Amino acid sequence: MDLYEYEAKQLFGDHDVPLAERQLATTPEQAALSAARLGGRVVVKAQVKTGGRGKAGGVQVADDPDDARAEADRILGMDIKGHTVHRVLIEEASDIAEEYYVSFLLDRANRTFLSICSAEGGVEIEEVAEKRPEAVVRTPVDALNGLDRETALAICEKAGLPQQVHPPTATVLQRLWEVAREEDATLVEVNPLVRTADNRILALDGKVTLDDNALDRHPERTPFHDDGDSASLEARAKEKGLNYVKLDGQVGIIGNGAGLVMSTLDVVSYAGEAHGGVQPANFLDIGGGASADVMADGLEIILGDGDVKSVFVNVFGGITACDAVAEGIVQALEMLAARGDDVSKPLVVRLDGNSAERGRRILTEAGHPAVRQAPTMDGAAAQAAELAAK
Ligand code: GDP
Ligand code: MN
Repeated sequence: MDLYEYEAKQLFGDHDVPLAERQLATTPEQAALSAARLGGRVVVKAQVKTGGRGKAGGVQVADDPDDARAEADRILGMDIKGHTVHRVLIEEASDIAEEYYVSFLLDRANRTFLSICSAEGGVEIEEVAEKRPEAVVRTPVDALNGLDRETALAICEKAGLPQQVHPPTATVLQRLWEVAREEDATLVEVNPLVRTADNRILALDGKVTLDDNALDRHPERTPFHDDGDSASLEARAKEKGLNYVKLDGQVGIIGNGAGLVMSTLDVVSYAGEAHGGVQPANFLDIGGGASADVMADGLEIILGDGDVKSVFVNVFGGITACDAVAEGIVQALEMLAARGDDVSKPLVVRLDGNSAERGRRILTEAGHPAVRQAPTMDGAAAQAAELAAK
């Protein structure tokens, strides 16, 4: 599970990662009180489980408590990439001299952990990696041997950080590694890690993904929060008995049969390369019996994911024939619309196999404005990827 910034910083604090003083607020009044307690200038930061809050206006400097109240009033309730802001973090403002990037992540392909470090933080690391790959330093970290002092210092050197910050930054790197290892995280990211004007190193932002399979190894931990946003889509899908896994992309996927859905992910991923790297947003297998109810549940989960820009419904009719699936789609869209859900995201449907002709005709006759059909899986993937890139 992904943590909110304020939760990530609690873990950082437990491992002595240097942080600015901060308090959580859920109302503008609390924000003003926190600002008064912290004193001086503060930063009001939207707590949502998505990046780019700064760009979206969710990170604002406030000069005094009144200003903090006004900023909190503006930020609370804001929608950032489909995530509603329910809390703001009020943090002592830092006088930033330089912004760096550091992270530790599980590198599944190479069966190790990876540290990524750059002297060019604050901006999106993917952008830096694309434009100036030499500015991004990747160093494998062995899970058992960990990150020793020498390697931590070498990372600072290779990343081109100024000499005088190597010792304190190496210490922070070692502590962040400790967070990753001891808390069973698959990602620990700090962007930016800053050098302040008075030469302190502070973790100004924090992103942590915990390995859900290891949650029971930490009974002492206060449970982390999950608002009704995309982070809990998996929990909702589980309640409905759906086989759903949230992924990072933009194309929602519904298919019948795990094998078909797996290959659909591959095809969409491949088609997405022509559209700026569009990727599947989820795995969802609705299984053999695609009744209207199951289809509605599936569509509800996928359309409720703020990251989803288009949906690809890929069905191979077998025991449940395509006409039944088509009826399911039509009824599901009606059910969702009747409930007031937004059903305007484009849906690309590919029906093949048993009763495909009849299924297609049902969709054509229903003429739902969001639905378009494609005769082949490749063609449908290309359409869905293109629609998602718009
Ligand atoms: P993100 O946009 O979701 O990654 O949010 P961040 O927490 O990384 O904040 C975005 C940017 O806001 C940072 O890169 C900083 O440039 C700026 N920022 C955040 N906190 C402070 C602060 O205390 N002082 C100043 N001057 N800028 C800040
Ligand atoms: Mn950031």
